[in-house]
Amino acid sequence: MRYHVWSIGCQMNTADARRMSDELELCGGEASDRLDDADVVVLYSCVVRQAAQTKVHNELEQIRRVKHRRPGMRVALAGCMVEDDTSELARRYPFVDRFLSPKLDLAVRDQVFDLVDLDERYRLDPEDAERSSIVSQPVTVSQGCNRRCTYCIIPFRRGNERSRHPREIRREVESLVRRGTCEVVLLGQIVDRYGRDLGTTLGDLCADLSDVEQLERIRFLTSYPVDFDRPLMEAVANLPKVCEDVNLPIQAGDDTVLRRMARGYKVDFYERLVDEMRSLIPNLGLSTDIIVGFCGETEQQFENTIGLLERVRFDVVHVAMYSPRTGTASANMWEDDVPLTEKKQRLHEVERVQARIASEINGEMVGSRQEILVEGTRQGKWYGRTRNNKICFFESPVDPTGTVMTVAVTGATSWSLQGELAVPVTA
Ligand code: SAH
Repeated sequence: MRYHVWSIGCQMNTADARRMSDELELCGGEASDRLDDADVVVLYSCVVRQAAQTKVHNELEQIRRVKHRRPGMRVALAGCMVEDDTSELARRYPFVDRFLSPKLDLAVRDQVFDLVDLDERYRLDPEDAERSSIVSQPVTVSQGCNRRCTYCIIPFRRGNERSRHPREIRREVESLVRRGTCEVVLLGQIVDRYGRDLGTTLGDLCADLSDVEQLERIRFLTSYPVDFDRPLMEAVANLPKVCEDVNLPIQAGDDTVLRRMARGYKVDFYERLVDEMRSLIPNLGLSTDIIVGFCGETEQQFENTIGLLERVRFDVVHVAMYSPRTGTASANMWEDDVPLTEKKQRLHEVERVQARIASEINGEMVGSRQEILVEGTRQGKWYGRTRNNKICFFESPVDPTGTVMTVAVTGATSWSLQGELAVPVTA
């Protein structure tokens, strides 16, 4: 049995795709990076923006053609394209055999039983699939979201917030570490709220996972300004394995736009929070998400977002043009009235300002020494990340993948650092 698992969108999909691949491997499957020769195909879809949705659609159309030639192929569609009522999807994509809703927290194993005829295959006993190791791996710790930001489709597709049990998370992390993973990225829509339904906290989880030997680093995504509390800041500041790296989407730098997005905070609150974090966590790497061209966003309101970028000086900004999602409050209530050309200009303006800020911030790191957890090679150089999540390239006579190297930073761009080994190693 050859399987092909494809994913797009958020890291939660990456994490689910990895678990699915592991299970298929345990059923005796063999990974294939080609659709054409696969017996089982699983797509982890995304609909958070139109661009992602279009790519999923194109992939499905390709599958339609392949399955026409090879009707025995089994196809599952997972991820946020899968609505509660799948009849419309089934009509559009009749060749899909299974829809795996992200709302059902079915063990991936149960989902696999539906796809693979296990009677005919020998099921492997060991719990760890033999797969190539990946230095940094995402691990989902909570699912769904209780907020209703007016632009966002995620709560409709992933349901309300619920946390995975810490024991189960620890088991997954230990299994990854046995296979060579050195860093885990804990994932949740509002990861800071992890455990509130179980009487525990994200800080506690990070402390617990810190005991896993051989695990070097812990990161988490995505944070929500209102839920990032002082104890969590202290956990980041005090737990050595937890990296100084926070992704804190603000979405807009204007109070009127934030209110229309129903974000539940004002710009001033956000900036004070960042001040507090930065005073508690030295060398904090801070990234954010911005939506430009939200319904009714005026030129002045957009300029306020640019002003915010100049004041806060983020390390990284993920910027997207607003894309109305059917069923969300903003799509129901307001017209998508910022013209596409204007949205594109605003997007480029954010990118231009942010590229300058990032190159200044990164430039200040030249001359410093950084601990790099090495992830692999790219274009003849080794690369890895600093604790505050900057990519750094350097040369090494030996393969340092999966180890932490001390690197002296010699150069910087907006996107990355270059360096050389501070402690020379010989081959
Ligand atoms: N929990 C996150 C949401 C994750 S979705 C939050 O706090 O918003 C990832 C990013 O996609 C969001 O941060 C947002 O910037 C973007 N996004 C979500 N819905 C969008 C839409 N309708 N149009 C454009 N961008 C959107």
